[in-house]
Amino acid sequence: MNDTEDTLDVTQKKLEEIFGKRPIHFSEIPFMTTFHPHPEPTKDTQEEDAFIKQIESFNLKPKDISDYLDQYVIKQNEAKKVLSVAICDHYNHVRQCIQHPEKADELYLKQNVLVLGPTGVGKTYLIRNIAKRIGVPFIKADATKFSETGYIGGDVEDLIRNLVKVANGNVDLAQYGIVYIDEIDKIASSSSHGRDVSGRGVQINLLKLMEETEVSLLTPTDMLGQLQAAMQMQRGQGKQQKTFINTRHILFIFSGAFDKLSEQVKRRMDQGSIGFNVTPSADAEDTQQYLHQAQTQDFIQYGFEPEFVGRIPIRVACDNLDKKDLARILTDAECSILKQYKNDFMGYDIDMDITTEAIDEIAARAEQEKTGARGLMTVFEKILRNFKFELPSSGIHFFEVNTDTVNDPNKALKQLLLSNQSLLSEQRKADLHAYETAFFKENNLHITFTEDAIQELVRQSILSDKSMMALCNSLFKDLAYGLKIVARNENKDAFSLDKDFVTNVSTTISQWIVNSFKSNPAPQATQ
Ligand code: ADP
Repeated sequence: MNDTEDTLDVTQKKLEEIFGKRPIHFSEIPFMTTFHPHPEPTKDTQEEDAFIKQIESFNLKPKDISDYLDQYVIKQNEAKKVLSVAICDHYNHVRQCIQHPEKADELYLKQNVLVLGPTGVGKTYLIRNIAKRIGVPFIKADATKFSETGYIGGDVEDLIRNLVKVANGNVDLAQYGIVYIDEIDKIASSSSHGRDVSGRGVQINLLKLMEETEVSLLTPTDMLGQLQAAMQMQRGQGKQQKTFINTRHILFIFSGAFDKLSEQVKRRMDQGSIGFNVTPSADAEDTQQYLHQAQTQDFIQYGFEPEFVGRIPIRVACDNLDKKDLARILTDAECSILKQYKNDFMGYDIDMDITTEAIDEIAARAEQEKTGARGLMTVFEKILRNFKFELPSSGIHFFEVNTDTVNDPNKALKQLLLSNQSLLSEQRKADLHAYETAFFKENNLHITFTEDAIQELVRQSILSDKSMMALCNSLFKDLAYGLKIVARNENKDAFSLDKDFVTNVSTTISQWIVNSFKSNPAPQATQ
């Protein structure tokens, strides 16, 4: 049986599992029914076409990319420079191959890149932003997820298929995409660093992709893919749908912490320094610095195949972020976590301000987390968790995060709530009016709380720490039922509810019902 028969066989079996052994029509498969034979180009496809045109006429300069990265990524200047140059070289080459197809046959060493450095310092963020700037699809994967055979772990070719998925199935765009593989240091084959010898197999499989190969877009086990292929055939559109993608122009970027490598490089350099005095930095406490000095031989010794390292000619190390860098990430970077928190509060119409001292303190605490910029998120989360929960229902529209807030967030929150009691009451009152409106919408009966009833309900809601909605829903759960009887008997649709009523709901409503039957009907009566 050949591959195609094999594939069809599996698809057939899957279809039988779903529909049984009977003839099926495409229209029975829900997502197929919505397609028209000649669909109009959608906004997505127009955008994809624009991205492809952008690559075909790629004309960015390294400085353009680096300047763009400066808006988002703090520090890592060397990485920005190296990546910008590699990216421009790569896409210039792609453009030349498109314009002069004969160029594709010339020998060209692809600019695959290895980015080294600790966690949370912006390795992924750099590449993600580059992909965004150029408009190419981007996927990230963990090298540890793959196995040599693809049976136990994932198959490296899945990476390429995922890239196509991210490109909305647009193979023309996906073929220029960026594949980013993290934790590459974990597939070093040396048993002292890597997980086991199967790392070598994964490296060899990745090599094939990094070179030029055709990856099938369909796998025998990919039921959805099979159906989508059938669907695209049904769509027609005059041209044959692609079933393979060529990896020639896909750029591979690898990254890893390589912490043991820095020690290894340090040892090499220390040995070299005997008699030659070539220590990189005599007072370098941080062995991380040695990643900048890593050479091909170091990677091979670490457990990488020479062919594999050879296919990744560009290597650059990112630096640790200290508290000053972390503070700058908060204040200067676009889309920083601080902006995200401010935005989250803005969603409730709450303006959050933060003092410079608080920023410095947060950055210092984040540095101690030793997870790079990710530490900022951990620290913010600890400080602002309860603020996020309490403030939206408090009526407060402004608050400031200062060092007191950072040092004792719960105390600061309590003080904030206490000093804004009146706002809290106002908010609860507004919520009570919202309950009146909702009650009318649901039951077609007007209820109006008197001033003393409002005071009482606001008091109860604050004391019990319940939202006004929750309090009303529990106090007045049988109100609609009772009022409807009274309304029918007394032919009225508006009720005024006072303090006595809200403190004795069930007794009062029972009394009203009894009275309404006695006076049945009394059109002008008011309660
Ligand atoms: P890693 O180096 O482990 O790949 P990431 O790039 O995923 O780390 O960083 C996690 C998050 O931290 C990013 O999404 C970004 O918000 C923030 N971040 C990390 N480094 C920087 C940096 N140098 N400048 C600005 N933000 C950063």
